[in-house]
This record gives sequence, C-alpha cells and structure tokens, in this order.
Amino acid sequence: MGPVAAQAPPSEVIRQGHVPADSLFKLLYVPIEVPAGTAEIRVQEDYNRQGGNVLNMGIYDPAGYRPGTTAGFRGWSGGAKTSFFINAQTASTGYVPGPIHSGTWHVLLYPSTIAPSGLDWKLTVTLVPGPTGAAFVAAPAAATVNNRAGWYHGDLHMHTLHSDGRRTPAELVDEADAQGLDFIVSTEHNTNSANLSWGRYARPDLLIINGEEVTTTAFGHWNALGLDATTLIDWRYAPQDSMIATHTAQVRALGGLAIINHPFFPDTINRFQFGVRHFDGIEVWNGRWDARNEQALRWWDALLRQGRPLLAVGASDTHTAASSPNQLGRPRTVVQTSSLSRTGIMQGLRARRAYVVADRQLTLTLTARATGPAANIGDTLVVAGGQRIKVAFQLRGASAGTIQLLGATGVLATSPVAPGGSTTVRWQLPVGLPRYLRVEVRNPKAICSS
Ligand SMILES: [Zn+2]
Ligand SMILES: [Zn+2]
Repeated sequence: MGPVAAQAPPSEVIRQGHVPADSLFKLLYVPIEVPAGTAEIRVQEDYNRQGGNVLNMGIYDPAGYRPGTTAGFRGWSGGAKTSFFINAQTASTGYVPGPIHSGTWHVLLYPSTIAPSGLDWKLTVTLVPGPTGAAFVAAPAAATVNNRAGWYHGDLHMHTLHSDGRRTPAELVDEADAQGLDFIVSTEHNTNSANLSWGRYARPDLLIINGEEVTTTAFGHWNALGLDATTLIDWRYAPQDSMIATHTAQVRALGGLAIINHPFFPDTINRFQFGVRHFDGIEVWNGRWDARNEQALRWWDALLRQGRPLLAVGASDTHTAASSPNQLGRPRTVVQTSSLSRTGIMQGLRARRAYVVADRQLTLTLTARATGPAANIGDTLVVAGGQRIKVAFQLRGASAGTIQLLGATGVLATSPVAPGGSTTVRWQLPVGLPRYLRVEVRNPKAICSS
C-alpha cells in the first residue's frame, strides 16, 4: 500500500500567507477545491521556523469542517509532520483513508508558537487524478479480551507515529507485551486514525482501548478514554466557549471517561484552563516523577479535601522507544474490574477501584474496616460514631522507602517499607472520620500511590 500512481498529470494548488504574532492559536482554514476523479490528495506545508514558529496542520473533507462537527475530519498531525497524503485505501499516519469526495476541502492551520515577526506559510497541494483504489477497511481492536475478574495493569496515555510518537503501532504492542501490560489506551493527539486499525496488531492477552488526547496548546490537554474507534472528540474551543461540558458528556455517553492530563506541564504555557468539574479524573503522575507531578498530586489531594473525589491516574505518556526514560508502563494504573474489557476497565476506573505504581513488579492492597465488612480501594466505608477504623496495607515488589497513610488532615501514620520485598502494615485510627484515606509510598527513586 502507498500513494497511488498518477495516470493523468497531477494538478498543483499553491496557497500562501502570513500569520502575524497576534494570531497565536487562531484557527485558519485554507479552502482547496478538489475536482471529481481525484484519487489522492497530497499536502506539503512549508513555513519559516525562525523564532520557534510552530504551525500545526490537519484537514477536513466536504462533509464539514466547522467546530462542533467532526463529520468531515480526515486527519491531524499537529506539528509532527509537514506533509501527508490521503487516498481511498491508505493515508499517512494521523490521517483517515477513504473516498476523496469532490468539493471544498479545508486544510486547518493552527499556529501554536509565533515569533514577533510572524510566520510565513505556504501549502502545496497536489491532486492526483485516477481510479479510486480498493476501499480502506477499518479494523478496530476487540472490546473484550476475557471475562475474568481481577486487578489489571494498564497504561492510559501513549503516542505512536499516528501523532508525535516515534513508534509504529506494532512496536508499541510488542512493548506492551514485554512490559507485562494487560491493557493500553491509544491516545493520539486530536485524531482517531490509530483506533481504526488496532485490530491488525491485536494480541490474545492485550486489551487495546480507543482514546484520544484532546489537545490544545493554549488551554491544556485531556484524555478521552474508552471511545468507539470511529469517534473523534473535537478540540477546537476555548474555556470561554462553554463547549467543554458537551464534549466530556460525549465521552461519558460512550461509556468513557474524561481525564485532565499533566495539568502543570509545561511551566510556561499549557496549564490546564478548563473547569475541573467537567472531568472524571486527573493524571497525577505523568512519565517520570518530578515537581510538576508533585503539584498535580497536591491539586488532586486538595480537591479530595474539598469533598470532590476525582479518580487519580498515572500513565507514561510515552513518545519514544523502550530505551528512553519515558517508558511504556512506567508509571501504570492498576484497575479492578469484572472483565478485561473496555466496559470493565471503564467501570473500574469510574468506581476509582484503581491505584498507580511506578512499574510492573509493584502491587498493593489497601482495606479499611470498622465493625462491618472491609472496604477496598474505591469503596465507601460507613462508620458509626465512636467506632475506630482499622486499616491494612500490603505492598509487594518494593524493599525500601516510606509508607504514609494520609487523610483530610494530612499524614495519619508512617511506616518503613520492609527490606524483603513484601510489607504488611496495620494501623488503627483514633475515633473520628478521616473523610478519605489514601496511601503514598516513596523512596528516592520512585513513588506509588493509591
Ligand atoms: Zn499531553
Ligand atoms: Zn500525551
């Protein structure tokens, strides 16, 4: 498969313009007339890179391009590519193969960095006539791997060549296997192109869940987890447009979850600006543990104190191969579910039956009880006045560090991690409601949290 061979001379359309510095983050739609009989569209983007200019790119077909509709969506590569092609059977990664309908297509340009002198751009669009090739056949991943209840290890955030990652989908699946992951969620920036083909890379024991990293440079990133392969969640709105509720509701209507990603990355721009009330969870641990993750954890904890319990997740956000520090499955979210399936994982996450660990050898259990049955991670424990809560915590796979039991008033108890690789701690709390309980385990190299 590849670009179609031209049977008649291709035609070329050139569009160019200047984006002044005050047009940062403004969406620019460049119309392209596509005649009947076109078999393939090729787009080449050129712009001056001086001053750190970045011009993101995507394309819509005649079915529609306006914000609020994704009917005409045919792909997005952000700042990761400067050229792409689409034909009936195949397309560049990030783009959606299918019929090349005649009519007005729109190339979307989105400047996310502009030098004071502005940005000069040029699009060279090549329209290749010819017969339509064989139709693209979508092959989404199976929604269920097994119906066994358990705690499953997953990575909720990653990128391949379908956005700005460096791996092929096949390499990513190989690595998921090698890292002992039970499930992964595909979260490319602003495109569902990878989701249309995960079935081609399926492994019998690996669940691949469709997702999308809904990405704006201006207002932050969030993950839509648990989508249908054909669904794209639009990203073209600002906090003041009051559109975020509609889009997170769209995710929930599919049984999915909306998670705020790396809310404090990077330091200068990109801080998360949509209202937290629209979201189900926060990625408190993204890639390698650092001060910005610490900030995200504090924010999540502050929300817990306010009586707003959100799901906390950790994920690698991996973009590069196994040898990189940003490795698939580090950290990972471990989820309790009744089945290894998209529905099961989403239900487990929604119920907050989940914990986050640095890597594959770490597992834990946490229970709390008063006089009745024990509550597990994610459960609500009902405590009558005057009853004391007993907490049991078990950690495997760590042989150094400190365990802290935390509640709304701060640290409730502290214990060392036993050197042998398995630690069991029991605490009895003084009378009085802690409102919530959580555990953090830290050592100089790693942290895990539940
Ligand atoms: Zn991101
Ligand atoms: Zn990401």
